[in-house]
Amino acid sequence: ETKIEIGSGLVAKLAADAGLKSYSSIHFVVDANVARLHGNTLLEPLIDAKKFYAVPPGEKQKNIKSVAKLLRWLHDQNADRKSLLIAIGGGVVTDLAGFGASTYMRGIAYISLPTTLVGQVDAAIGGKTAINLGGTKNIAGTFYPPKRVICDRDFLATLKKSQLRDGLVEAIKIFAARDNAGFRIHTARLGDYLNGNDLTQLISAAVALKVEVVNRDPFEKDLRRVLNFGHTAGHAYEAITGHSHGKSVAFGILLALELSRKLAKLSERDSDVVDAAVRSLYQRFAGKEITSESLWERMLHDKKSSGGKVNFVLLKKCGEHTVKSVDYSQFARAFEQTREMLEA
Ligand code: NAD
Repeated sequence: ETKIEIGSGLVAKLAADAGLKSYSSIHFVVDANVARLHGNTLLEPLIDAKKFYAVPPGEKQKNIKSVAKLLRWLHDQNADRKSLLIAIGGGVVTDLAGFGASTYMRGIAYISLPTTLVGQVDAAIGGKTAINLGGTKNIAGTFYPPKRVICDRDFLATLKKSQLRDGLVEAIKIFAARDNAGFRIHTARLGDYLNGNDLTQLISAAVALKVEVVNRDPFEKDLRRVLNFGHTAGHAYEAITGHSHGKSVAFGILLALELSRKLAKLSERDSDVVDAAVRSLYQRFAGKEITSESLWERMLHDKKSSGGKVNFVLLKKCGEHTVKSVDYSQFARAFEQTREMLEA
C-alpha cells in the first residue's frame, strides 16, 4: 500500500530518511520547470544537481518515445531491480515516470513528489500511470502504485493562478460526487485557496476521498468511474477548443449538472450550489465554436462509449453520484441548455 504524506518541509525530511539507503541506487526524474524553480532551494538537499533526468514541461512528453528515453537513461545509470525512482513534477512527470518504473526490469520501486495542485489532489494518487498515443490521451498505462506519495505544499508557492484553478476544479469534482459536507466547507474557502492559503487542508480532504474510492475499486471496475465526473464532455471540449484541462472539466461539470437534473433527479438547489462553485473559478467558456455534434462525435471515439450511447457520471444529490447511459438527443438538449446558460 502507498504511504501518503501531506504537509510542509517534507522534501528535506525525505532527504534525511535513512530508509532510502536500502535501495541499490536512486534516480530522479524531474520536470524541467520544477528543477529551474526549486533546484537550488527545496530540492537542494535531495538531489545531486548534475544527476537527474529532466523532463521538458508539457503534456507532449507523455509519449512512448519519452518512455524509451527514460528507460535507456535508467539502464545507462546502471539502475537495477533494487533501484528506486523518484518522480518530481506535475501529473505529466508522475504518469510518465510511474509508467517507466512499472516496466523497467518488470517493475522497480518509485516514489512520487507531485509539485502541482492537480498532482497533489488527483494525478499522483491512486496508482494509475499512463502515456498518450498520438492524439489519444492515457490510452496506454499500468496500475502500479508508488511506495510513497509526498505532497509537499512548499512546491505550490510557484504555481500560477490558472494552475491552482486546474487543481481546485478536480477537488470540486470529487467533493461534489462524494462528500456534501466537504463540498460546503471547501468551496466556501475557494478564495483563500486561490491565493495559495490553507491548501494542506484541501489536499488532505480531497486525497482522503480519492483514496477511499481507489481502495474500494483499485482497477476501475465500477466505483472508480466516479472520478470521471465532468470529464466525459470535458475531454471532448478540451480536444476541440484547446482550453485548459481545468476549464474543460468545469464545462463538463456544468453540462453534467444539466443532465443530472433531467436524468438523475438532481434538485435545482444542489445543482445551483455546484454550478456557483464552478463558475467562481471560470466565468467564460467557448460558445459558438463547439456544437453538440462535434462534442458527441469526440465522445464516441473515447473509450467510455458503447453502442451509440455515452456513459455519464451524474449527481443525484451534491455528494452522491450515479452512472447513466445517455443518448444523443438527451445530450444535445442538455448541451443547448448549458450553452444558453453560459451565454446569458
Ligand atoms: P503538468 O505535469 O503538465 O504540469 C503543469 C505545468 O506546471 C507544467 O508546465 C509544469 O512544468 C509546471 N509545474 C509543475 N510544478 C510546478 C511548480 N511547483 N511551480 C510552477 N510550475 C510547475 O500537468 P498537471 O496539471 O500537474 O497534471 C496533468 C496530467 O496529469 C495530465 O497528463 C493528466 O492526464 C494526468 N492525470 C493523471 C491521473 C492519474 O490517475 N494517473 C489523474 C489525473 C490527471
